[in-house]
Amino acid sequence: MNITIEIWKGNGRHLTRRSWARVRAVIKLRDMAVCQYCGKPANDGEPDHILPLAQGGNDALHNLVWSCKDCNRAKGEMTLRAWVQSMLKAEPPLPPLPKVRRYSSLDAGDVIDV
Ligand SMILES: [Zn+2]
Repeated sequence: MNITIEIWKGNGRHLTRRSWARVRAVIKLRDMAVCQYCGKPANDGEPDHILPLAQGGNDALHNLVWSCKDCNRAKGEMTLRAWVQSMLKAEPPLPPLPKVRRYSSLDAGDVIDV
């Protein structure tokens, strides 16, 4: 777990490519290569920023979840709240994202409200 401590010290901003590779490995391991949005196995997934970088998020571990490519693409630069709201408005309505709730208490409490 030394990797985690090192990453936390940097607070996620301006990670080098090498550091990002380690973050990616940690997130994949932590989330067991399962997409934390839809629950599907996603061995070829990517870490996704719960609060997007463009909206003030960072690369800290608590702001990253493992995501399949479909969810990552669909969420894009949206906040979690905006994404969930867009899905709730979809016809037919899509189910809420139960997995995401696990992370709402970590540091994204003001991001998710579903
Ligand atoms: Zn997914």
